[in-house]
Order: sequence, then C-alpha cells, then structure tokens
Amino acid sequence: MPSEKHFRTLFGPIRSRRLGLSLGVDLVPEKTCCYDCHFCQIQVRSTLTCERRDYVPVADVMSELEGWLAAGGKADAITLSGSGEPTLHAKFGDVLAGIRERTPIRRVLLSNGALFGQADVRTAALQADVVKVTLSAWDQNSWESVHRPHPNLRFREVLDGFHAFRAEFQGELWVEVFLVAGFNDTEASVRRIADLAAGLKPQRIQLSTATRPPVDRQVVAVDHAVLRQLAGLFLPVADTLGGAAPVSADEVHAVGTSDDDLVAMLVRHAAPLEHVAAWLKAPADQAAARLDKLEKSGRVKRLTHDGETYFTGGKS
Ligand code: SF4
Repeated sequence: MPSEKHFRTLFGPIRSRRLGLSLGVDLVPEKTCCYDCHFCQIQVRSTLTCERRDYVPVADVMSELEGWLAAGGKADAITLSGSGEPTLHAKFGDVLAGIRERTPIRRVLLSNGALFGQADVRTAALQADVVKVTLSAWDQNSWESVHRPHPNLRFREVLDGFHAFRAEFQGELWVEVFLVAGFNDTEASVRRIADLAAGLKPQRIQLSTATRPPVDRQVVAVDHAVLRQLAGLFLPVADTLGGAAPVSADEVHAVGTSDDDLVAMLVRHAAPLEHVAAWLKAPADQAAARLDKLEKSGRVKRLTHDGETYFTGGKS
C-alpha cells in the first residue's frame, strides 16, 4: 500500500540489472555534484561544488526509511545515489551505519569517487557493503574532458584515494567505466583505463555508455557490439549490461505515488512508460494520462533516445 507522504530522500525502488530491486536514497539537492559530465542524465542545471554539508538531517532519512520498512517495503539493495554525488553529504557514513541498524538489506554506495582523496570520505565509505566508483579517464587532461570536474580536484589524488580505499575496504569494490564516442572510446584509451582499473583489483567492472538520454544531446553512445569487444580488455572482464531492466508492478513497493513523488523519481531516473506504470501499479493508459498531465504543466519532459521514449523530471 503506497504512502501518500512525499519522501524527500527515498525514491523508487528501481529494478537495476546489477543490484536487483534497489531503493534509492538521495542525500543532496538535485544535481549537486563535483563533476559536470557531458554524459550526465540528470536533466537539471548542475551545482558544481566540493563542499561537504549536512544537506538533509540523518534523522529525517532514518525516519523515512523506518516508514517505508514498516509499510512492508522490500528491496535487494538500499543505494546511496540519485541526482548528485552522495559523498557530498557530510554524514553519508552515518546514513550507511543507520541503515545497517534497521535492516539487513545490503548497502550500496554509487559514487563518482571524486572525493576519495579525502581520508574521512574513505572512512565513511567503509560502512557500505558495495562501493562503485567511476574511472573513465587515464590522466588529468582526459579526466577534465570527460567529467569537467570542480577546479579544486586532481585526477592523481582521486586515483591515489581509490588505491588507499582498496587497501582498507573488505566489501565489494566495483569500477564503472563510462565511454562516450569521441572522448574516451578508442582502443588505446580504453587500454590505459583498463590498466589503471586492474590495479584496483575490483570485484566487478561495468562498461557503460549513454543508454538513457544525456543532458548534452551531442553525446553519442558507443555501439553495444563495440562495448562488448572492449570489455575483454579489462580484468576481470567488464560487464556491459545496458538499458532499462524489466520491472513488474508486483515487486515494486514505491515510496510514494503522488505527483511530487513521481516527478522526484523521474528527475533521478528517466524511465520508459512501462516502468512508470509499474511504480504506480496502474495500467499503461492511466500512467500515460498522468504523464501527459505532468508534461503539459512542464514538470515532466519526454525524450527519445536510441529509439526509446523516456520520461524525465525537471526543466533543463
Ligand atoms: S553523471 Fe554523475 S558524476 Fe557526472 S555530473 Fe551527473 S551526477 Fe555528477
């Protein structure tokens, strides 16, 4: 039974090909990030910052989580992710620890890793069961071109931070490599990234490209057949799962189904109609009518990408 309460930080759950059913926890305001990637899929203006703050009280996040669990919420993972960089929340480690106190569901941190040069960020990240960091470049220039990072950041410090974290972390370290045609997709570029990634001895490497609509409409996804070939350059061999995972209404206990919940969800995760229908537990025509209304009021946009129609929240 979905709640009518509007959840500020929880969203989903979303079915992820890698995590299963994943309840999202968004700890920062929309698109607050230390990168401004060309390929970003969050369709709102960026706030580029390295300042770590208590953007939302940890007690509020715990209260939302308790409400969702008490209402029968189930997921395979609780994932710090969303519309910006979760490590920018000064107490994200306390959030991970608080989740562990309340549920055995595995805790996942999806981070760009830009702040892993800071010891306190690495210490907080140790509270997760799975940590995913991003490595899509091989030196300062390539990193600046792909991610457009905050000017205070340095690629070498980020990479050194990944090594320091690997040495301490007992959980699963995943490395995501995001490839964009014309930026970092030549075999020579990918070999350099693969060498760096291998040095981190990750349990999993994910090779991704722009499967959902990017803000920069000039960004071109790498062909999936090419991705599969490049995957063999990595150790372990990278997985190339892409696209939206199938979802069914029976398995989703959405954190909320109000218009605010739906828009907040679509800001963080652009989705096709059938996913929206599953979240709403509604037939596709009813979900389409809701989306039409929100589109007319300017709160939702329709984007076509790779022949598929996605709905996304927010005005660019
Ligand atoms: S893709 Fe991720 S890391 Fe890059 S700007 Fe968007 S939210 Fe930040």
